[in-house]
Amino acid sequence: MVKLNSSEVRKANKQSILRYILQTGECTKPQIAMDLRLSSPTVSFIVDELLEQGLLETTGMQASSGGRRAAKYQICKDAVHACGIEISRGHVIFVIVNLCGEIIATERIRKEFSDDREYIQYIAKYRADMAERFGIDPATVTGVGISLQGLISPDQTSFKSHMLDDRRVIATPTLTDEYPCLFLNDGNASCMSECYSNKAENDFVYLMLSRTVGGAIVHDGEIQAGKDGFAGEFGHVCLHPEDDKVCYCGGKGHAWCYLSSDRLEEFCGSVYWDFFKKLEEGEEGYCEFFDRFLDDLTLLIYNVRMMYNTDIVLGGYLGTYLKPYLPDIDRKLQKMDHLYPETQIKITCGKHGLEAAGVGAANYFIEKFISSLV
Ligand SMILES: [Zn+2]
Repeated sequence: MVKLNSSEVRKANKQSILRYILQTGECTKPQIAMDLRLSSPTVSFIVDELLEQGLLETTGMQASSGGRRAAKYQICKDAVHACGIEISRGHVIFVIVNLCGEIIATERIRKEFSDDREYIQYIAKYRADMAERFGIDPATVTGVGISLQGLISPDQTSFKSHMLDDRRVIATPTLTDEYPCLFLNDGNASCMSECYSNKAENDFVYLMLSRTVGGAIVHDGEIQAGKDGFAGEFGHVCLHPEDDKVCYCGGKGHAWCYLSSDRLEEFCGSVYWDFFKKLEEGEEGYCEFFDRFLDDLTLLIYNVRMMYNTDIVLGGYLGTYLKPYLPDIDRKLQKMDHLYPETQIKITCGKHGLEAAGVGAANYFIEKFISSLV
């Protein structure tokens, strides 16, 4: 076992106390000391320090049970903020989260992607104006995470994407010098919205069903990048090799051809949430179309389940909308799986829909802030 020196122990204690209060919401010093098995003076010193740093606030006194009443503390949510921006071909989604990872603002605008200066200046200005409109003190912003549809180079200087028709390598733009920025693949960014909000789930596969289809493989709480960085590109798994449908990568019958939110929009001629509304209303043809969609989704889930034998989270834009149809997916899986119909694997839906990638990209900086506390 690695032995920590006294300052490392103090740092670890401080982070675990902050994480504990983030989870419990409101607590007292004796409660922290008991649950984290720390001495009272250690807890008292660290809590006072967090109060001084403005990361905690007192909320009153605990109800008396005869002895001395203890003060109650909670996270000062607005002490720290982070921004997340999801850039896709035709839209930009902006998200601002607080220290608790809660969304305090989200906005979606229509803007055609371009790699020129005007585009990035527009995005940068929109982000700053939005933060101002929501009364965010710029000094509390810890970073800006940017989700992109593409494979980002390890040194963060460029990315390969289908967002421009010629699919060339695009230089990552400098959004702001004011804050640290990080570019993330959209599948990884969306997956992060689950990683940070649910620390209990350490192993799972995230299937992102947005305009693009992708995802990430999480092992021991960490996203597995793979040798070239494209692990979890489930959109390019071939589902129907004989089909003539061509994926944007050039391949035939790939999962993206059937499971992108664009397919639902093409069918209904409107936004994807209208598709689900009409489906629920029983509009003609919707049920049959969606049944084929679920067949394809089940086939992808089946393949992922066979490869990883782990829980699967259905996320991205469509994730939250699929919740009522989980029993249908389950039934289809039962029919398809002749080997392991009694599997322990859970299939659930992500907590965030449209804003998943933005939340994940922003949460990266909240997590970074917490783990850099000394
Ligand atoms: Zn493909």
